[in-house]
Amino acid sequence: MSDCIFCRIAAKEIPSKVVYEDDVIFAFDDIRPQAPVHTLIIPKAHIASLNDMPDDRTDVIGHIFAKAPEIAAAKGIKATGYRLVLNTGPDSGQDVFHVHFHILGGRKMHWPPG
Ligand code: 5GP
Ligand code: ZN
Repeated sequence: MSDCIFCRIAAKEIPSKVVYEDDVIFAFDDIRPQAPVHTLIIPKAHIASLNDMPDDRTDVIGHIFAKAPEIAAAKGIKATGYRLVLNTGPDSGQDVFHVHFHILGGRKMHWPPG
């Protein structure tokens, strides 16, 4: 989708710090990091939010979970720990309507999140 910023990042029309890429997903560093490591993992296909995930594309979520440890390792936080966050809808604070998981780490995380 040409007016979606994350589609444009995945297409490399907008530059980003790429962490991982394959045919299905793209991972890049968040522009406003909330932790020493803050990387976003997105499907290359445009899916606005988890609420819009087609039943026949749930493989994408499985693929993101399968690759998250490798992406955490690439950022040096696989052993120290990390949090995987998926914001969905207004109350969650979702700002960008292209499904994305945040990988956060490099410091102690707090619970519950604010
Ligand atoms: P949300 O609040 O939708 O879950 O998270 C959106 C995230 O995307 C935010 O953490 C924000 O900093 C990040 N973000 C927004 N625009 C850009 C951008 O142009 N480049 C990068 N690398 N990150 C972005
Ligand atoms: Zn998109």
